[in-house]
Order: sequence, then C-alpha cells, then structure tokens
Amino acid sequence: MSYDGKFAPRLDPGVIDELRSIVGERAIVSHPSELKVYECDGWTIEKSAPDLLVMPRTTEETSAVLAALWRRKIAFVPRGAGTGLSGGALPVEAPVMICTSRMNRILGIELASRCVEVESGVVNLHVTNAVKGAGFFYAPDPSSQQACTIGGNIAENSGGPHTLKYGVTTNHVLGVTLVLATGEIVELGGVCEEGCGYDLVGAVVGAEGTAGIVTRASLRIMREPQAHRTFLATFADADTATRAVSAIIGAGIVPGAIEMMDQLIIRAVEDAFHIGLPLDAGAVLIIELDGLAAALDEHAAAVMSIARGAGASEVRLARDDAERAALWKARKRAFGAVGRLAPNYATQDGVVPRTRLPDILRVISAVSRKYGLAIGNVFHAGDGNIHPIVLYDEREPAQVRAAIDAGREILAACVAMGGSLTGEHGIGVEKQGEMPLLFSPDDLLVMTELRHVFDPLERSNPNKVIPRPGACVEVSAPHRQVPI
Ligand SMILES: Cc1cc2nc3c(=O)[nH]c(=O)nc-3n(C[C@H](O)[C@H](O)[C@H](O)COP(=O)(O)OP(=O)(O)OC[C@H]3O[C@@H](n4cnc5c(N)ncnc54)[C@H](O)[C@@H]3O)c2cc1C
Repeated sequence: MSYDGKFAPRLDPGVIDELRSIVGERAIVSHPSELKVYECDGWTIEKSAPDLLVMPRTTEETSAVLAALWRRKIAFVPRGAGTGLSGGALPVEAPVMICTSRMNRILGIELASRCVEVESGVVNLHVTNAVKGAGFFYAPDPSSQQACTIGGNIAENSGGPHTLKYGVTTNHVLGVTLVLATGEIVELGGVCEEGCGYDLVGAVVGAEGTAGIVTRASLRIMREPQAHRTFLATFADADTATRAVSAIIGAGIVPGAIEMMDQLIIRAVEDAFHIGLPLDAGAVLIIELDGLAAALDEHAAAVMSIARGAGASEVRLARDDAERAALWKARKRAFGAVGRLAPNYATQDGVVPRTRLPDILRVISAVSRKYGLAIGNVFHAGDGNIHPIVLYDEREPAQVRAAIDAGREILAACVAMGGSLTGEHGIGVEKQGEMPLLFSPDDLLVMTELRHVFDPLERSNPNKVIPRPGACVEVSAPHRQVPI
C-alpha cells in the first residue's frame, strides 16, 4: 500500500467475524449493493464505496472496533449522516467505514449549566428540539440541520445562518469523548466553561475525522432570544445587496443572520415552494435581528433605513411567526430547490472579507461565463462565507471537469482577496490541492504533527485535509470519475 506498509491493503477474512462479534450481525453492512449507498457524501463528484460498514452503538463498541482494526493495520473513515460537501466521508484508502448513526441518544440536559450531553450520531436539530420547550436552543444551525449529526458538525466545525452572531460549532462544544485509532478512549474538556492548558477540544473540532471518532459531546445551549425581527430586502442586483450587508454591520448592528440569494436561486426556490419571493429581484437578503423585544424596534428601523439607503427597492418585515418560518424555509431548502435546475451541482464554500463580496461575486459571474456553467449563489453574507452552486451534468465528462476547475478558480480568488478555502464545509478531498494556496510547507508540517498527536499512523480518515508532502492528491478514491 502506498503508505509504506502502515496500512493493510485490504480486509483479511477474519476481520468481519471479529467485528461482528463486537457489534452484532445487524450492525455490519458488507454486501456491495448495500454499500453503494455510502459511496459518496454531498460532494458527489467523487465516489468510492467502502468494503465494509460498521455501526457501533456505544463508545465502548467503537473502541473495541477500532482496537481490532488497529491490530490488523486497517484504516477507517468516520461517517455521520453523509451530508458533508467536501468528500470528508469518502473512503480513500480506508476500507472500513464507521457510521455513528446508532449512537443517537441525548444523554442528559442540564439547563442550570446550559449544557446538553449527546452521543455524536444525534441529529443537529434534535438538540434544539429537546430544549426549546424550556426556552433554549443550540446555536449552530447548518441548513442541513434536519439530517446532519453533531459528530459531523464537530468534524467540520460547521456553521449556519445564525453563526454570524453566535459563532460556529467550536464556540459551542465544551467537551468530547474521542476514540483514537488505537481504540483508546480519551476525554477532552468537560462541562466547565473555562479550561486550562492547550485547547485540545479546539484541535478536534474541525479535524474532519483525522483525530479519531468523536462518540460523545457536551454542548453549550443558549437562551432563546425574547423576540425576532426578520426582513426580506429586495435588490436590483447582487452587488448592491452585498454592499448593504457591509453597511448594516458597519453601522455597529450585528444581526442574528444575514443571508443572500441571487436571482437563479430565488427562482428555483419560488418554483419549488411558492412563498412569494420577488421573481424580478436580482438578489434578496434575509436579515434577522434577535434579542430583547424592547430594543429590537429601534434596531429594526435602523436596518430598514440602512438597507433602503444602500439601494433596497423593498424591505418587508415578516408579520408573524408563519411568515418568518416561510422565509427560513426558503433559505434552508434552497439547496434542495437547486436540484430542479440541473442533474448535478457542486456547492462551493469559500470566504472573503465581507467588503470584498461584490468583487468575488463578479469573479463568480466571470467564471460562470468562462466555463459555460450556470452558477447560483446562496450564502451567509454576514460572514463573507460564499456558496457558489455550480450546475453541471455528470453524464458529460467535460462538464464535470469544468465544474471542478470553476470551483478551483473561485477558491483561488477568495484566497487572493485575503479570504479562506472554507467557511464551514471543510477541506475533505475536494480542496486538498488548494491547501498550499493558503499554507506554507511549514504550516502543513505543523498541522501534520498536530494530527500525529492523535493518530501517528494516519489510520483515521487517511489522505484527507493535508496534502501529502511531495505527492499529488491524485491517489485518492479508486472510482474517481475525473482525474483531479
Ligand atoms: C443541503 C445541505 C446544506 C448544508 N448547509 C450547511 C450549512 O449551512 N453549514 C454548514 O456548516 N454545513 C452545511 N452543509 C454541510 C454538512 O451538512 C455539514 O458539513 C455537516 O456537519 C456534516 O455532518 P454529517 O453528519 O452529515 O457528517 P458526514 O458528512 O458524515 O461527515 C463529515 C466529516 O465528518 C467526519 N465525521 C463524521 N462524524 C464523525 C465523528 N463522530 N467523529 C469524527 N469524525 C466524524 C467524517 O469523516 C467527514 O470527514 C450542508 C449540506 C447539505 C447537503
């Protein structure tokens, strides 16, 4: 195997029996037709099914499974719900996939400590559902929150519309139980707000499964804001809309969320959900203020005035909870609606300084024209976190190639503008090749050394995130459709 004998190239016959004895027959999937379900995540450009899927139910079972794999030098890939958008859960030189979907219990709720203890396969939205009756919520709210797991969120350091004000996953994880590739169980952090020493929880959050498998987490929950004011602001074009974003934040107001949808997305969403978005708009912003009711009206008036001053042709306030819910439905289901526009799409994820949003949107338009592919934009404008959605048809190899190249060109422009390669979807396999745009060889070496603290032989999610020194990323998935 290409990793200098660190990994066994394939599963030896005894391993399935041993794993079956640990987790039971029903927690193993080995038939190729069933494994096909797991051949990709939301980054569908690359596909590669595992040889075996194991679904442990507890930390202890996970530990026993990983210890068995360790003894046999078998690498593995962790998987939550498979909604990742950068190929993080794609098996690459890892024959075994460990899926956390059966570790889905909420273990404890401590309102006094504002903390919820969960297993890592718990679905994001279920955390808020468990505490909202008591007036609390879990802040990181990816648009995939009805499906994605807390373990996946931790691995990707996920964000969402409301992370503009409340911060991303790393700001809400107090502690984790991590099973290392050796099978050793380690506890990092805890329910206390303040720790000391190096922030190892922070190192695991965003490690994209390369540190081991998170089986449990202590999450910070927050008090539900007393009131919301949610607006739909309509603009002639995306340029004007994004300038309004900077104007609002520049005025010292930090909304709970500022999301943007361009014309392509508005039309797709409207066709799918008929919620009354303005079809003639070049772009819309969904702006949400939250906080104490007494202060909100003043801020709401200021936001409306700033948005109008920045060129909004209309600023409409959601009159009640139903209208607010409809706006969020439009935003959170936008990716699904895009499925109506083309057989396939690749969702990019880059970051620019907020004031450069108009510039990057111009780059995206130019890239769209250059490659002859439609690109829609729906994104967390307040964070400068763009999500160009590149439409293509995977039956046309030239289009697949063009979609990849278009994405790369956009990311390179983000970096050139002082931004980053990812705001929340991670590097996975998709952007490994771009890491040197942002990081020097020394930076990448330091990251590798940090990774080795947890997993010295790189058996947990091998060949992800950090490009191997001197090697191109080509190795990757055996069933890659396009040589990347
Ligand atoms: C329609 C749609 C909308 C989305 N919107 C957003 C958004 O608004 N914000 C956002 O941040 N993301 C968004 N995403 C991306 C995705 O949902 C997130 O990255 C999410 O956190 C992935 O969770 P998952 O459970 O599906 O993880 P998976 O896709 O299964 O895995 C993701 C990564 O985490 C690792 N992993 C999974 N579980 C564990 C574990 N227990 N321990 C260690 N490693 C683990 C995997 O190896 C992989 O590297 C969206 C995706 C879709 C399809």
